[in-house]
Amino acid sequence: MQPTILQCRCGQVQLHLSEAPIAQFYCHCGDCRAVTGGGYSPLALFPAASVKLAGGDTTTWTYQTMPRTRCAHCGTLLFGESPGMNMRGVSGFLLPPDLFKPTFHIRCQHAVMPVKDDLPHFKDVPAAFGGDDEAVGW
Ligand SMILES: [Zn+2]
Ligand SMILES: [Zn+2]
Repeated sequence: MQPTILQCRCGQVQLHLSEAPIAQFYCHCGDCRAVTGGGYSPLALFPAASVKLAGGDTTTWTYQTMPRTRCAHCGTLLFGESPGMNMRGVSGFLLPPDLFKPTFHIRCQHAVMPVKDDLPHFKDVPAAFGGDDEAVGW
């Protein structure tokens, strides 16, 4: 992947991406809905070391177990980092459309805004993420 630079809404904070995403998906969990203010959250998982912060101040807040980092000035959600997984889930809202290519939905059992598309809709998470591949019937 070409190195890619993303930025928050006000432009003070940049994310430098140096590797291709490991997985891209939509998460319907209550935490993602609360922190994004949306019906679900678009996420692109990258190796943690390949996502470098630059520019202005950020603020990190942990709800339950996942620290989520925002621009301290405009509040744009930048990424969450799963403890012990060494990956950063970058907000898909920041990625250019030609890079954000989600291939499944997770935590659909919590969905308040079901999305009818051709992607797999996992009730929890796929087997590759430690789940059981069970899907919901959307
Ligand atoms: Zn900002
Ligand atoms: Zn979530």
